[in-house]
Amino acid sequence: MNRLMKKCRRFWKRISGPSYSKCVHEYQLLYPGFVMAVSLLSILLAQLTGGSFAYKVKVGQRETIGKAVEHAQVKLPDITSCGEFLTHYRYETFGASNPDDVDPNAPMVALTFDDGPNPKHTGRILEVLKENYSHATFFVVGTNAEQYQDTLKDIADAGCEIGNHTYNHANLTSISSEEAWEQLDKVDRAVKKATGEGTTVIRPPYGAFDQDLLDRLNAPVVLWDVDTEDWSSRDASKIVEAVMSKVKDGDIVLMHDIYESTAEAVSIIVPRLKEEGFQVLSVSEIARYKGKELELGKAYGKLQGSTE
Ligand code: ZN
Repeated sequence: MNRLMKKCRRFWKRISGPSYSKCVHEYQLLYPGFVMAVSLLSILLAQLTGGSFAYKVKVGQRETIGKAVEHAQVKLPDITSCGEFLTHYRYETFGASNPDDVDPNAPMVALTFDDGPNPKHTGRILEVLKENYSHATFFVVGTNAEQYQDTLKDIADAGCEIGNHTYNHANLTSISSEEAWEQLDKVDRAVKKATGEGTTVIRPPYGAFDQDLLDRLNAPVVLWDVDTEDWSSRDASKIVEAVMSKVKDGDIVLMHDIYESTAEAVSIIVPRLKEEGFQVLSVSEIARYKGKELELGKAYGKLQGSTE
């Protein structure tokens, strides 16, 4: 049996290269069940997915990887969850230069937050994102942006994206084009004052826009395809369920960073998404990594790959 194991291990080392064996030794993962399971699944999934197998291996392997996490903690006491472990595992396996390097072949999801910023709830969401090497897009309204300049700066410092949600939540299709311009420009100025940069994307309140408006805007419009209805339920577990039951690669999730229940839900959703192999990124980052630059005069409801 031992000889067979050694053979398997040698075979695995040969095909997987030094990064895997470094991972194995560093994190003391050398117990046979794990190595066998990972080896067999990885070979199969590596073939099928063209390299993003570390994520897929996670599916159905929660318990085994849970054990691996315990072992990894001996060397890396900072690791407290499967999500963090996988981040480090990916870091070793793919030779990424730092833990938040993006693997363009692995699934991505954009969490987006409207109507803030809010010092308390946006602040908590940013902490969760930072702990999980993740980013998001915040569509701010001007009234809050003017009032909470420090929170805006915190969003930018966390590597997150700031989008425009009008000055006071106006329906852009029911006002004149001068008024619409003013609504968006005031937000831009408030964001620039806090961060040095203007907004990069626009989300019209109520998702209300027409082609005429679209043609006049100076940034792409970003909508959503997963609606958590967090403003209505104000219930963290329902928000978690709304995301986790629907989410797939390239989705844009709508939430609001002005509710405690939403911030609570995010503290559960982000680690869980990471555990399921998703990379949690801003809208523009996902567009870039998927080779789908956001264009002026267009509206985006999801971000699937460039071939779609
Ligand atoms: Zn809104």
